[in-house]
Amino acid sequence: MESETKKQVPLRVFFFPLMTPGHMIPMIDVAKLFARHGAATTLITTPANEPFARPAIDRANSSSPPLPHPINLILLPFPSSVHHLLPAGHENFSSISSSSDISNLFTAIFALATPFRHLLQSHHPDCLVSDTVFAWTADISADLNIPRLIFHGPGIFSLCIHDNLDLHNAYGQATTFTIQDIPHEIRMNRWEVPTIFNFPSWVHMLRDAEDKSYGVVVNSFYELEPDYAKLFLEKPGRRAWYIGPVSLCNESADEKAVRGLAETGHEKLMAWLDTKPAGSVVYVSFGSVCEFSVDQVEEIAAGLELSGHCFIWVVRDKGPSTPEGFEERVKGRGVVLRGWAPQVVLLGHVAVGGFVTHCGWNSVLEGISAGLPMVTWPLTNDQFTNEKLVNEMLGIGVRARREGQDPTVVIGREEVAGAVRRLMDGGDEAEERRRKAREYGRMARTAIEDGGSSRVDLNRLIDELSQRRGARGEEKAEVSSN
Ligand code: UDP
Repeated sequence: MESETKKQVPLRVFFFPLMTPGHMIPMIDVAKLFARHGAATTLITTPANEPFARPAIDRANSSSPPLPHPINLILLPFPSSVHHLLPAGHENFSSISSSSDISNLFTAIFALATPFRHLLQSHHPDCLVSDTVFAWTADISADLNIPRLIFHGPGIFSLCIHDNLDLHNAYGQATTFTIQDIPHEIRMNRWEVPTIFNFPSWVHMLRDAEDKSYGVVVNSFYELEPDYAKLFLEKPGRRAWYIGPVSLCNESADEKAVRGLAETGHEKLMAWLDTKPAGSVVYVSFGSVCEFSVDQVEEIAAGLELSGHCFIWVVRDKGPSTPEGFEERVKGRGVVLRGWAPQVVLLGHVAVGGFVTHCGWNSVLEGISAGLPMVTWPLTNDQFTNEKLVNEMLGIGVRARREGQDPTVVIGREEVAGAVRRLMDGGDEAEERRRKAREYGRMARTAIEDGGSSRVDLNRLIDELSQRRGARGEEKAEVSSN
C-alpha cells in the first residue's frame, strides 16, 4: 500500500527559461516531454511573458489523451526594484532593442534571484531545469539540494566551440583563428565569437554554475553531430542528455501553431500554400530578435523579387517596412507576413522547399526536422557556428554572404537572389543538398521515436531523476523515524 502511494507521487520538475522566444519555446516543449512521461511540471516566467507561454500550455493541458498531470504556470512578479529601468511590460528580449534596455533586463534577471529562492523553497520540486543564463539558480538549488539541469539554447557543435573558446582563449587580438582540438578544422573570425566572451566574468560565472549543476539537457540529437556529441561529454564531470529536436513533440497543426505568440488568422496563407507545387516556396525568416536596417530590408525585397521564386517572408512588427509597391508587385508569388508566424506549421507544408534563416538554433533544427535545405544568414552569437554546422558538416546550406565577410555589410539584391536560386533551382548540387536535408529530417524523426537516441536519453534522465527522488524520500523517512 505504501509503495503504491509512493508510485503515484509524480516527479515534480520546475522549468525556468530565459525570457526570449528562442529559449521559452523549446523549454516549454521540454516541459511537455516530461509531462507526457508522467512528471508534474511547472513553468516559471514573469507576468508580461504569459502570452508567450499560456497558449502552448493551455493546448497541452487540453490534449487527448490528457496529460497525467497538467502543466502548471507560475508568474513570478517582475522585480519592483527594476520597474523604473524598463518600459512597462518589456520583460522579454524580443520586445526591447537598445543596449541599455538589454543591460537593464539583465539587471532584472539578477533581481529575480531572491523571489525565485523563496519560490523554490516553498515548493521544493524534485528537479529544476533552468536556463544557462540564470547561473544563480545553481547556488540556490545546491543550497536546497535540488538537482539543477542546465538548458542551453545552442546545439552541441556550438557548445563544443564555446568550451574551446573558454579553454584556449584562442582568439586574443587575432582577426581570424583556428579552433583547437576539435574533430574538424574550423576557422573563425573575431566577430563570430559570441558576445558573452567579451565579458570574461560572465564566462567564469556560467562555468562555475555548470560545475555546481547536475547536468545539461541539449536540444539536439546524437546522429546530427555525433563527433561533437562524444566530445561534449569528454569534459570531466560533465553529464549531458541529448533530447531533441524538441519541436517534434508537437504533432498536430494546432499544437505547432500555438508555440510562442500564437497569432491566429493564418488560414488564407495556408490556403495560398495549398495552391503551390510541392517544394516551390521559400520560407524567409530571421527569428524573433534580429533587426535589419532599412537598406538591408530593401535589398532582401529586391532580391526575392529578382529570384523569380515563390516566397513567404516574415517581417518583424517593429522592423522597417518593405519598400513601397513591393507587396503589390509580388502578389500571387510572394507573401509578406508581418508579426508572428506559425513557423513550424509553415516549414512542414509540402509546398515549402527551402528556408532562408538567420541560423538561430531552433530555426536550424526546425528546418532540419522538416527536411529542408537552407540559405544561411547568421547575424550574431552562435548563429555563426550553426551556419558552419549546416554548410561545412551537414552540407545542406548555401551561404548568403561570402565566407569571412563582415556581417554588418549589407547583402545586395544580386547576392540574395543568387543564394535563393542556388537553393531552389534544379541541378545536381541543389538536388544533393535536398537529398541530404531529407535524410537528416528522417534521422531527426527517428531520434524522437520509441527506441530512438533522444527518446532513450530522455527516458534515462527521467528514470534517474525518479530513482534519485525515491532514494531521497526514503532517506527523509529514515531521518524522521529516528
Ligand atoms: N518563431 C516563430 N514565429 C516567428 C518567429 C519565431 O514561431 O515569427 C519561433 C521559431 O520557430 C523558433 C523561435 O521562435 O522556435 C526562434 O528561435 P531561434 O533560435 O530560431 O531564433 P531567435 O529568435 O532566438 O533569434
